[in-house]
Amino acid sequence: MANRIHILDPDVTMKIAAGEIIERPASIVKELLENAIDAQASTVKIELKEGGKEEIVIADNGHGITSQDIPFAFLRYATSKINSLEDLSSLKSFGFRGEALPSIASVARVEMISRPPEQATGIKIVVEEGKTIEQGEIGCPTGTQVRVTRLFHHIPARKKFLKSAATEKAYCLEVITRILLGVDNLRAEVIIDGRHSLLFPSSVSTEERLALLLGREVASHLAPIRTAVEGQYRVSGFISDPNWHRTNSKGIYCYVNQRPVRDVIINHALLQAYKNILPPGKYPVAIIRLEVPPSELDVNVHPTKMEVRFENPKTVYALVAEAILHSLSKFTPEGPMVMDIHNRIEEAVERYYVEAKKPLRDLNPLPIEDKPSDDFVYLGQINGCFLLFQTPQGLVIIDQHAAHERILFDRLNERDLCTPLASQSLLLPIVMSLSPQEFASAETLIPEIKDFGFEIEPFGPQTVAIKAVPSIFSAEEATLFLREMIGNSDLCKLPSRERRNQILASLACKGAISAPTYLTAEKACHLFRDLKETKNPATCPHGRPTFVRFTSEDLEKMFKRR
Ligand code: ADP
Ligand code: MG
Repeated sequence: MANRIHILDPDVTMKIAAGEIIERPASIVKELLENAIDAQASTVKIELKEGGKEEIVIADNGHGITSQDIPFAFLRYATSKINSLEDLSSLKSFGFRGEALPSIASVARVEMISRPPEQATGIKIVVEEGKTIEQGEIGCPTGTQVRVTRLFHHIPARKKFLKSAATEKAYCLEVITRILLGVDNLRAEVIIDGRHSLLFPSSVSTEERLALLLGREVASHLAPIRTAVEGQYRVSGFISDPNWHRTNSKGIYCYVNQRPVRDVIINHALLQAYKNILPPGKYPVAIIRLEVPPSELDVNVHPTKMEVRFENPKTVYALVAEAILHSLSKFTPEGPMVMDIHNRIEEAVERYYVEAKKPLRDLNPLPIEDKPSDDFVYLGQINGCFLLFQTPQGLVIIDQHAAHERILFDRLNERDLCTPLASQSLLLPIVMSLSPQEFASAETLIPEIKDFGFEIEPFGPQTVAIKAVPSIFSAEEATLFLREMIGNSDLCKLPSRERRNQILASLACKGAISAPTYLTAEKACHLFRDLKETKNPATCPHGRPTFVRFTSEDLEKMFKRR
């Protein structure tokens, strides 16, 4: 009988393994950019066509590869960066697994041209589906250029999963920004579909780098962290002014020995330091660079090397927390905000009791002249936030903001089908300067938000001019709203229908009455009537409840009458 278990063909294993590293164009950009940095390049040029789906070219001026070495570069587990396992404990490079080039070449066509400074001519090699199809001498500048085309050409199932060019471009720019923010001495140029998206001048200061990569406005809110050192551990970087924040955590960039990582310890230490300063649900922008002795760090946790393990997580936590708390205290006049957790809990409990003892001063049971058709009676408002109604089904408490959000969302949705939202022109256009990532998002969003009343035009490189805003907003509110939309790179990755829904939900949220707002009885009743007419009265567009109801039975049970 024939064996049922057999060893897979190397071509198959290579493609399977490649799947772990090469998911989309951005994964290729990450690997090639890291290789350029490992080759000590001082300049790198990245060109993308169709979000990298059509072509990715990365050229560096690093140390190049010799003609003897070049065929080895495409063999699995072939690397110049380590010789033995022990070398991992002194690792300085991004790469060490020798997997990227063979993985890319197994799912795409790779053309590599390279010349080390000591060689008079360069060498060109073309590899597709793991097979070398061309190799020979070529005249070229020193350094390495890698061109990747025909991505997933032979694996239609994978190709099908790639998203639109705009989405893939957003992923690529995310990777590029993340890597470039972690290194100091690399001049970069990014060209997307023939247009410059990023260009560092010949000498570029740290502030200028931040402004080019994150946009001028974000950079203007950043201040350097006071470097904290303990033994060979060191934390440095930049954090944002506590009076300024973002609605998502996408502006948090962590690096360990230059390597961009996602790390819960660093993240937790950072967010904990901002905890009592930022409103709930708001995040800082931060670039945290941690240096750790390589022997006390495990980078070999996952093939993409985005996760690391620390031998001394407590040292890392304490050092990051100390550096950030200390730097934050410079922003506020009250001095250091270091407070132990017990104090915080005690304070919170105390606050709760004080609040709970206050009389319900807003509870004004005004019997009002309801429209005869209304089957409810308005009882009053609590804390300028909740509305109380007596209904045939029992006591209803409405979250006025959530309810208003639902009403606006439904109206915006219905309205949009026929006429654009009313718009007001601004006397002076507002000019916003953006990061490459934000500019790419803006290009996707501008045509889509036009019928919400926004008129925005590109205005020079990485800059847009807002000429008109929806009339439900003031100019400042509209700019804040736009910043939030443009700054959320996830938005551009959504299918356009979902993206529209999210934009509508945010518009509804921004336009809805905020708490505390004291409503007249008439307005409160109006709100309740409007809510009942919406398609989904029970939740706001973000899924939070708009009301809670206590039936008579519930109330009786609470008072132990049943
Ligand atoms: P790794 O980076 O883990 O070593 P790769 O497959 O990414 O594995 O690259 C294999 C080898 O090819 C590297 O070890 C390096 O010697 C060489 N190489 C790749 N890219 C470059 C480059 N841009 N410049 C110089 N050498 C390179
Ligand atoms: Mg590599």
